[in-house]
Amino acid sequence: MTYNTVYDIILPKYGKTPLLNKMSQSGHLQKQGGAPIMKNFTFGTLEYVRPDVDAFEEKLKGFTERIKNAKSYAEVKAVILENDKVMSSLYTMLTVASIRNTLNTTDEFYEKEVAFTDERLPAAAPTEIAFTKAILDCPFTKELEEDLGKEYLVAAKRSLDRFNDKLVPFMQEENRLTTEYQKLMATAQIEFDGKTLNLYGIQKYFENPYREVRRAAFKKYSEFYESNEERLENIFSKLVDLRTRMGKALGYDTFTPLGYLQQGRSDYGQREVAAFREQVRKEIVPLCEKLYEAQAKRIGVDRVMAYDEKFVFPDGNAEPIGDEAFMVAEAQKMYHDISPETGEFIDFMIEHELMDLENKPNKANTGYMTSLPDYKAPFVFSCFNHTIFDMEVLSHELGHAFAGYRAMRHQPIIDYAGVSTDIAEIHSMSMEQFCYPYAERFFGDKADKYRFQHLQEAITFVPFGVAVDEFQHIIYENPNLTPKERTYEWHKLEEKYMPWRRYTDDPFMERGGYWYHKIHIFLYPFYYINYTLTTMGAMEFKKRYAEDKKKAFADYLALCDAGGSKSYLELLKVAHLRVPFEDGSVKEAISYAKDILLDSIEKMK
Ligand code: ZN
Repeated sequence: MTYNTVYDIILPKYGKTPLLNKMSQSGHLQKQGGAPIMKNFTFGTLEYVRPDVDAFEEKLKGFTERIKNAKSYAEVKAVILENDKVMSSLYTMLTVASIRNTLNTTDEFYEKEVAFTDERLPAAAPTEIAFTKAILDCPFTKELEEDLGKEYLVAAKRSLDRFNDKLVPFMQEENRLTTEYQKLMATAQIEFDGKTLNLYGIQKYFENPYREVRRAAFKKYSEFYESNEERLENIFSKLVDLRTRMGKALGYDTFTPLGYLQQGRSDYGQREVAAFREQVRKEIVPLCEKLYEAQAKRIGVDRVMAYDEKFVFPDGNAEPIGDEAFMVAEAQKMYHDISPETGEFIDFMIEHELMDLENKPNKANTGYMTSLPDYKAPFVFSCFNHTIFDMEVLSHELGHAFAGYRAMRHQPIIDYAGVSTDIAEIHSMSMEQFCYPYAERFFGDKADKYRFQHLQEAITFVPFGVAVDEFQHIIYENPNLTPKERTYEWHKLEEKYMPWRRYTDDPFMERGGYWYHKIHIFLYPFYYINYTLTTMGAMEFKKRYAEDKKKAFADYLALCDAGGSKSYLELLKVAHLRVPFEDGSVKEAISYAKDILLDSIEKMK
């Protein structure tokens, strides 16, 4: 996971602008009326029509007036539901364009459509803010809270807190810069092994049984970033500068508090996150060192170098025993076996062609799940590379998709079907764990290898993840660092959280160049810690699933159904999960996984 983790829920690109922020994961449901769900469609046949943002703004202005003049809560509620429908249609079209843009980054039509909405939508944000403000100011908030729960008002307040008209030009510039980064990554061409590879393709060689091949591939990977360093420095410097100015425009000293607001956090802050990172350093870093020591012995090297980390077994890692069609067919059977709910879901995904998994030229270098709310349809995008990563997509991204599928059918409004990622990654990472018992179907007699490697990577990922988080805290607290100083901060964090990490003849990586590959640092500031917090939830679910499958799955289902209708801490309660910031909770959460891993490395000696 260290190299090719692309666990993303996409569309924070829109989500992080105030407009549509509430739908950052998925869509909505119209329990009370609304458009009927289309029965016969496939993603490829959906008609795209450029959203009429002017008309959208006019409607929104009308809604705002009606809220201001409302004489009863019933009138307010009617407007909320109508607005929900409008947002749903708008969001569906934006998502269609965005998906098609990532499916073929050289398709000029969708590139232009995305560029258009990137420019146009932030400009509509003040209209949406006025609507939100009218709701907060109306005399019926008490009834609203009773009806829809307090999260509605908390989220509304948050979207006001993080927005100011002055931000609009910044957001437009931010969109341009992040698009430039994505394009640079997507069009990477690396010549290796007589082939032209993209950033996904080259990473397959990090698992090659020949150490020299791994080393050479890693060097090529490193060279790609080094040769683009100036461009990357330039993009990132501009992003840091403009995000800092955004923070200041809202009256903060730095960008960081705004970054937390953009992540939708309402019941924890920087102090809690720092306490969590410290628990990771104490509890997980030493475990990872043990795992890599055992790995070195196992694969017969003095020590595990950066290019060895993915090479977990001397006789090669587990590989899928079939192609994409085989994997999808097996996944379908597996989801039917896990539960009736997951069975219904996977049939829906397949029937409506809501997965695009094959690695093709010009596909964006990413993986994600997103939603088409008008169709109550999740969509999963990935680039299979015939490693265990493919299984991760079928469990992780489909875990997100399942949660979206459920929330869109169980929550009354669009705002509640979207889930902040500190919870959403619990959906996906726990599903990875629920899929473990089926590994034989995908990996044959290498299933144990898959389970071990996957679990080891789930754990060794956490120190890397908190390093990414701390890195961003350092960067935004010290916006005047030079690019080279920033990169050196990453080097220091590797020493702190990844003391095992070593490079060979690679001055670029030695001085900290590894961070450049992390798309989240460019696109989704302060998002990354969520993966590590949620790993704790997933490890707890793993334990409980082993102890009592029925009860654990019921809690999981309740969490998915709840969507984003509650705050982070309240949703943890729904699922009966521990709060990861509390002292001792990391140790407890990983205890079961730790036992399994230590036991496995003993057995493999
Ligand atoms: Zn994810």
